[in-house]
Amino acid sequence: MLIIGSHVSFNKEKQLMGSLDEALSYGSNTFMFYTGAPQNTKRYEINDNLTNHALEKMKNNNIDINNIIVHAPYIINLANDKENDKYDFSINFLKQEIERCEELKISYLVLHPGSHVGLGIEKGINNIIYALNEVLKDDKNVTILLETMAGKGTEVGSNFQELKAIIDGIDKKELIGVCMDTCHLNDSGYDITDFDSILDEFDRIVGLSYLKCIHINDSKNIKGAKKDRHENIGYGTIGFDTLIKIIYNPKLDNIPKILETPYINDKPPYKEEITMIREKKFNDNLKNLFEK
Ligand code: FE
Ligand code: FE
Ligand code: ZN
Repeated sequence: MLIIGSHVSFNKEKQLMGSLDEALSYGSNTFMFYTGAPQNTKRYEINDNLTNHALEKMKNNNIDINNIIVHAPYIINLANDKENDKYDFSINFLKQEIERCEELKISYLVLHPGSHVGLGIEKGINNIIYALNEVLKDDKNVTILLETMAGKGTEVGSNFQELKAIIDGIDKKELIGVCMDTCHLNDSGYDITDFDSILDEFDRIVGLSYLKCIHINDSKNIKGAKKDRHENIGYGTIGFDTLIKIIYNPKLDNIPKILETPYINDKPPYKEEITMIREKKFNDNLKNLFEK
């Protein structure tokens, strides 16, 4: 089954209920959200009433809570331990984020592995391993999905070998997985037009069973640019046909696919993009639909 959705908002008043309603308005059967602003760590208390209402409404709409994804804030950096207090803060905040996921009955938390900021890739990987093992010590049912990164700056995790090295160091391997991002794979240098080869390579190095989520984004930049700037579906260097082939690849059936494409004139384009995807038909008028 095609499981498709987008990034949605999560606010203090409506919480999971608001995120679900937004996703349903786009015609989605999954969604991803930050439990607060992505760039900061200010978070609200979870309201169990709202969560229970949302879970009930999901059932009525054939949405499986196991397909819903939370994204950890970018400011968590597990790769850099230069400053003890910041490193500890990242570890503790990630622990709290996992607790929030548990309260919300969410199974998957996407995490950017981190940036080593000059410490070197090996030290960066070791820092991530230590931190993740600390975080996963508490027995929770939330799986952390390491996202494939574009390779901007000193990002760790822009190739499968680095992700494999991290996973190898994790004690509780049942609580670790991977989230691929099509824009990031392209920008880090993978030939996205041959996705079967990418999946073969991933299977050989990491193991396909670790793949739990895919971010579907076009890219503003050419393959290997190491930039990480997302573009709307069919409007970037990856293109509509290549993205459709990835989305409908039988090996990726039942894996949640999440759009993180940019807003157009401050408006979410997800309803229209999801329609394009479901109909497998490119809408070359998309960018004109959202007037200021
Ligand atoms: Fe991400
Ligand atoms: Fe992403
Ligand atoms: Zn990105």
